[in-house]
Amino acid sequence: MSHTVESAVIVAIDGPAGTGKSSTSKAVAAALGLSYLDTGAQYRAITWWMISNGVDTADPAAIAAAADKALIVSGTDPAAPTITVDGADVAAAVRSHEVSAQVSAVSAVPEVRTRITGLQRAIAAGAARGIVVEGRDIGTTVLPDAHLKIFLTASPEARAARRSAEIKGSDVEATRQALVRRDAADSGRATSPLAKADDAVEVDTTELTLQQVVDRVIGLVEERRTAAR
Ligand code: C5P
Repeated sequence: MSHTVESAVIVAIDGPAGTGKSSTSKAVAAALGLSYLDTGAQYRAITWWMISNGVDTADPAAIAAAADKALIVSGTDPAAPTITVDGADVAAAVRSHEVSAQVSAVSAVPEVRTRITGLQRAIAAGAARGIVVEGRDIGTTVLPDAHLKIFLTASPEARAARRSAEIKGSDVEATRQALVRRDAADSGRATSPLAKADDAVEVDTTELTLQQVVDRVIGLVEERRTAAR
């Protein structure tokens, strides 16, 4: 079966950390010949910039004042996604515990969300063949007209086990607590919280392999395309 894209298709994949969003989104984009955008990496990049430039991440006014300063550029090839800040490759740096612990506070600031949401919409609009965008508020806020919206979930235990498998030497229980804390902050913030869009398809990945999730999402994209013809 050919996965040739006739027109740009926009797929929004939201959900909490550790549900397989990144792996699923990259695989779906690669299989369908679409671009890929990791919006969490953008929020991590601006958080990294704040920390590196001595901005107090517990001070929303200080974060708001600096929200426009970092030049954040995302490379959208699903086979080799990139993220740079002011020209420097920060792909590894943005995965640090320090950034993970502070990203929810930075991303809750409305000026940060306005800035990053603008970047996301411009990237999606420029993706000629279409794009898979993963995050927390893509289906609800960033791209409410996406052709397909997916909301991935999984039990906290499954999510913690996946995350600690990714991070060498990490403790599963500590990872679980950090994830639950981050989800609570992301779901509880006032501006575009982590939420399932009313028209999103929810997929619980707890008992599914990555390939099963990917096949499910590709099947849904094909269904929507057939319906649109
Ligand atoms: O996806 P990832 O876990 O890397 O996201 C890091 C953080 O970025 C999230 O915990 C959340 O605070 C923020 N984020 C967001 N909106 C998005 C994507 C990520 O607020 N669309």
